Amino acid sequence: MKKLTILSLFLGVLISCASPETPPTLDTDQLIEDIRILSSDEMQGRLVGTEGNAMARAYIINRFEGMGLPAFRESYAHEFSIERNNGDLVEGTNVIGIVEGKSDSMIVITAHYDHLGVRDSLIFNGADDNASGTSGLLAMADYFTQITPNHTLVFAALDAEEGGLNGARAFVRDSSLMEKVVLNINMDMISQNDKNELYAVGTYHYPELKPILETIDTGELSLLFGHDRPEDGNQDWTFSSDHGPFHQIGIPFIYFGVEDHEHYHRPTDTFETVPQDFYKKSVQLILNAVFALDNH
Ligand SMILES: [Zn+2]
Repeated sequence: MKKLTILSLFLGVLISCASPETPPTLDTDQLIEDIRILSSDEMQGRLVGTEGNAMARAYIINRFEGMGLPAFRESYAHEFSIERNNGDLVEGTNVIGIVEGKSDSMIVITAHYDHLGVRDSLIFNGADDNASGTSGLLAMADYFTQITPNHTLVFAALDAEEGGLNGARAFVRDSSLMEKVVLNINMDMISQNDKNELYAVGTYHYPELKPILETIDTGELSLLFGHDRPEDGNQDWTFSSDHGPFHQIGIPFIYFGVEDHEHYHRPTDTFETVPQDFYKKSVQLILNAVFALDNH
């Protein structure tokens, strides 16, 4: 009898370790491989409407297929057009997959995969901005396709963020879908900060989200709140990236990002200048946050 009790206790411990009660540990090798490829010269800075941008999109679709992530509606690719000031039309394409959860209320996880392209024959590789967030999104999709989350999770690699948050604007235009969305989690520039700090932006607008984020394991990084108050002036990041259009229609958001740095929007924002140690910790932290927000 006593032996049985000990055995069942032991089994109980084993089972609780195996169930997704605790956040997963990242596959960091895959993460580094993804950011290296997405920020490579071959992708030519991933400017919307270019061949390099299409190449990045093909890579994301290939990764989504490989992990068995179901496509959102009929396919991963969702096109939209942007009108330039000179009247020219440019086609953008969001890449979207979905994991059905226990409930149909949705959390939309976003990261833009486009960047600035080539200027004066210099490639703007956009490793931090935003191959880092895109690869983070791939890591999260990879994990959540293997479990059944509480919410339905939509993984949206958005196009044409640079120059107007156009991919996000196209996404939120789908109002019947938006009725089900309870939260947007956006990642844009998450791979470098020399003070080991990462920001979670948005709790000024949505203070109910702060206690959830305060409970997560942040590893060796400091998770800071802020950059979201009107008095922050040009350091108010409420509309600085793809979470803006979600907030505009009243959908709560958390945006993860770092302070601007010397490589921001410069050709030196390359794979080589990304501190891999910080980046791995940052994505692990965000994964812990997504896990906690989904469990809430
Ligand atoms: Zn960006």
